[in-house]
Amino acid sequence: QAKKAGRNTMRFFDPQMQDTLNTRTALEADLRKSIERREFNLFYQIQVDEMNRPVGAEALIRWIHPKRGMVSPAEFIPLAEETDLILNIGLWVLQEACAQLKTWQNNPLTRNLVLAVNVSAKQFRQSDFATQVRVFVEKYAIDPSKLKLELTESMLQENIEDTILIMNALKEIGVQFSLDDFGTGYSSLQYIKKLPLNQLKIDQSFVHDLDFDRDDKAIVRAIIAMAKSLQLDVIAEGVETQEQRQLLLNKGCTHFQGYLFSKPLPIREFDALLERAIELHA
Ligand code: C2E
Ligand code: MG
Ligand code: MG
Ligand code: MG
Repeated sequence: QAKKAGRNTMRFFDPQMQDTLNTRTALEADLRKSIERREFNLFYQIQVDEMNRPVGAEALIRWIHPKRGMVSPAEFIPLAEETDLILNIGLWVLQEACAQLKTWQNNPLTRNLVLAVNVSAKQFRQSDFATQVRVFVEKYAIDPSKLKLELTESMLQENIEDTILIMNALKEIGVQFSLDDFGTGYSSLQYIKKLPLNQLKIDQSFVHDLDFDRDDKAIVRAIIAMAKSLQLDVIAEGVETQEQRQLLLNKGCTHFQGYLFSKPLPIREFDALLERAIELHA
């Protein structure tokens, strides 16, 4: 009975829903203008090794909306993905990331940093994606092995044969791959084995309750063992406490990212953080 009533409710006239709809439409219109208005910015979150030495960063996009202020990518990336706007945004991110890598590679102290860039499904499946990557790598004359593309399980599973072709074309350029949000999809070992991956990134949902959740402990241990047996590197994201870091370390995790080390920062602040970290480990 309740189910029936639910279905017949005229949800469209729910004022709150109409509100959400208006916000969405407005946001989408604004998103269209955001690139030429230069409202995007890349933030950088440090990634460290077992000794807390900086090994690189993840580039995370920020949209500074003229009226709303900072809009979370969790809000606008899905919106951009529904339209083709994600292609322009993705291209901007890639260019910005390659330019930053060039700057780091010009300095002996930061030459070996690896920059991880999130790639959306649509962007990845675009017929000339590998060409776009190659063009930027050449334009900025960067060492491609320092560019790491973050892909997710769900986007790779769509058409596994195509996925392998696209990844191999990118691998030929020399870039690396990390499997983001790992553990939240439904990957089988069988399929992961076929992909030219370099790294598994343990999703933050497994890290969050690691101190007390026995299931999460078991999952994390299994992911690390799996990475080892496939000779993949492993990084944990969302590391917020020393306890989490220690547990991960004990289980054999080699790379870490999270608020414990730093939040994502604008480039000037990130460079300052890098400088302090490099001094500390010199
Ligand atoms: P993601 O790639 O899984 O990125 C990790 C997210 O976790 C980031 O959120 C980061 O700020 C956040 N985070 C990092 N450390 C911690 C921590 O210790 N605790 C907690 N609670 N959170 C932490 P952010 O920046 O809001 O990005 C959200 C998602 O938006 C990203 O998830 C990614 O899927 C997407 N995204 C961000 N930038 C881009 C981009 O340039 N292109 C594309 N296609 N997607 C992007
Ligand atoms: Mg990511
Ligand atoms: Mg992630
Ligand atoms: Mg995530």
